[in-house]
Amino acid sequence: MKSVRDVAELRRTVATARRDGRSIGFVPTMGALHEGHASLVEHSRNDGRFTVLSIFVNPLQFNDKRDLEGYPITTESDEELCRSHGVDMVFRPDVATIYPTGFDTHVVPGRIASTFEGRHRAGHFDGVTTVVLKLFNMVAPDVAYFGCKDYQQLAVVRQMVRDFNLPIEIVGCPTIREVDGLALSSRNTKLSADARASAPILHRALSATADALRSGAPTVTARSAGLDVLGAVPELLLDYFEIADCDTLAPVTDDHPTRAVALVAATIGGVRLIDNLEVEGPGK
Ligand code: AMP
Repeated sequence: MKSVRDVAELRRTVATARRDGRSIGFVPTMGALHEGHASLVEHSRNDGRFTVLSIFVNPLQFNDKRDLEGYPITTESDEELCRSHGVDMVFRPDVATIYPTGFDTHVVPGRIASTFEGRHRAGHFDGVTTVVLKLFNMVAPDVAYFGCKDYQQLAVVRQMVRDFNLPIEIVGCPTIREVDGLALSSRNTKLSADARASAPILHRALSATADALRSGAPTVTARSAGLDVLGAVPELLLDYFEIADCDTLAPVTDDHPTRAVALVAATIGGVRLIDNLEVEGPGK
């Protein structure tokens, strides 16, 4: 496994793989890798691709400086996970490589980025799309793999790829969870024992809403079912718990013909967590 920090070397290695007839799969991450990230690598490897994984904690997408400063960095175990899962190349640029002095152009996504995470984290998706576009241009992959765990991020990236005619296929991969339902996240390592014990409530609430929708309950009732579950953890600070259209993330109505997704963001014990669950209603 090759580990590079330099764009020219990255491009040389990718070009060689391409000359050898390999298709390029790309997994962008912020490090502190876990089995959720590993599952994206597995998808790329199972598709037979030369797999590049990037590790870059992108300052541009953090609206809260303390969140950025406290973001976990686990360089050695990250390399180990990459090696054991068969990553071909790790790209670990430093901040000056991505944002050299004088950097002055940003991607600003539109309506799809204006709700949920976009509303609660000002500028977050500008940061995400700007870095993802830059990384796409550096790696030039055929396919990029993203987790459905960050549901809105996946939708925003798909929109950017469509809008800018990027010749890259975007693959969304299922969320990997702990046995108690908690979605794996780099932030989980920050949870105290008490907060860790409470955190699966997010998935339980999403499941309650999904079950209600599946059994034909109106969206208002289904949402209330989830909110009732969340009520069991009074110290939980809720940012949002909503049901939206899977593709547009617009609010759903009860006669809505398409699939829905329930989305939640909440802070438990000082750690902000997000999760979601897709639902197909009866007969939809
Ligand atoms: P991050 O390092 O948090 O920026 O995540 C990098 C990629 O891994 C994103 O596409 C995430 O959606 C994905 N990811 C994070 N957690 C999970 C998970 N539990 N299951 C699947 N994919 C995940």
